[in-house]
Amino acid sequence: MRAAILSVGDELVLGEALDTNSQWIAHELLDRGVDTVEHRTVGDDRAAIAHCAVVLAAQVDLLFITGGLGPTQDDLTREALGDVMNPGEPLHDLAPRSAQLIANTHGTAPGLRTRLGGCEIASLPGPPREMRPMFGLVIDEMLAKQSSNTDLGTASINACGIGESHAAGLIEPLMRRQANPHVGTTVSGAIVRARVRARGESALAALPSLLTMIESAWEPWAFGRGEVTLPLALGSLLRARGESFATAESCTAGSCGALATEVAGSSAWFKGGIIAYSNEVKQSCLGVTKEILAQHGAVSAQVATAMACGVAERLGTAWGVSITGIAGPAGGTATKPVGTVFIGVHGSSQRVRHIRIRGDRELVRQKSALLALQSLRLELIGRGATPLQGEVGIP
Ligand code: ATP
Repeated sequence: MRAAILSVGDELVLGEALDTNSQWIAHELLDRGVDTVEHRTVGDDRAAIAHCAVVLAAQVDLLFITGGLGPTQDDLTREALGDVMNPGEPLHDLAPRSAQLIANTHGTAPGLRTRLGGCEIASLPGPPREMRPMFGLVIDEMLAKQSSNTDLGTASINACGIGESHAAGLIEPLMRRQANPHVGTTVSGAIVRARVRARGESALAALPSLLTMIESAWEPWAFGRGEVTLPLALGSLLRARGESFATAESCTAGSCGALATEVAGSSAWFKGGIIAYSNEVKQSCLGVTKEILAQHGAVSAQVATAMACGVAERLGTAWGVSITGIAGPAGGTATKPVGTVFIGVHGSSQRVRHIRIRGDRELVRQKSALLALQSLRLELIGRGATPLQGEVGIP
């Protein structure tokens, strides 16, 4: 099944607001096995909206329009749909005659559902907090109306700490462009995903073994399928062992702990963390000695080791995980440039990793937190020697 998304709004074409609706809708559709083949953006222009709706509806099975549904003069989507559906007729109760209203549970402007030729159309409000729940209200019915979807299956494998090109190289023979099942990779920060789509009975039958092949090719970086997050995967391992961990974070200032606590019930395996941003706190709260700090600097393997050990001892956990690094934009030196991060793991095995992360301050911090969780996960599965992307000294 094929879909298109039409975003409406002057603020979008002028670059004053970012079109996040299209990204979100396309992602939701992909999860349901629907290919989004086109995104278009037009301003608040009645003729342009009508023209795009007609052109897109002729090419796809599902069309999602967002924006321009409000009560103000420049909100013209319902008038444009009226021009397409019932030209020359006035709107009836805010809708073209052949469209139905969709209740807006999070705002005032209702949405519209209609059909043009073979295409199911939903016109949704612009504000994401109104659009998303309304999409949830209509998507099942729209898919049911285009019911040839039953022979489509999708799945994904998630990995962390491996670069996308390395990951793609490991499964290259499975990634032929027209193959069915089709395998593609996506990357978001430190997480790489393989997305698999299978169409038709024989492709669906091949899906389970294909997923196993990808998982073994991405071993041990792959940590779960579908909605399984890295903290969730780590939590299951710790829970099974009856162990817990604590964090000592400098440059990430709590992000690693925040990721762990995204998982409901994480108190069973995550005890807490110490944000040790300054050297004084590294000394007073984690027991890092003045001598180590003076001799090696706060961003060093020695300090990362002492932080991980210190937090495990003080919080009484089986494992301690530490992060100290230079997130930038300032603070880099020739030997320790911006993006230099040390991750320490202390428990029944110990390790310290020296990693160089490319990216801005936010990305360095996000990736560091995930790589620290992955470092602990690798120790737990006995694969601690596995290199992580950007690790210094690893070819
Ligand atoms: P309202 O009743 O709020 O006016 P509407 O359907 O008319 O609903 P618009 O006026 O087009 O919505 O947009 C309202 C706001 O929603 C925009 O200012 C923008 O912040 C947000 N918005 C609109 N379209 C998008 C989009 N594609 N992605 C992200 N945000 C959007």
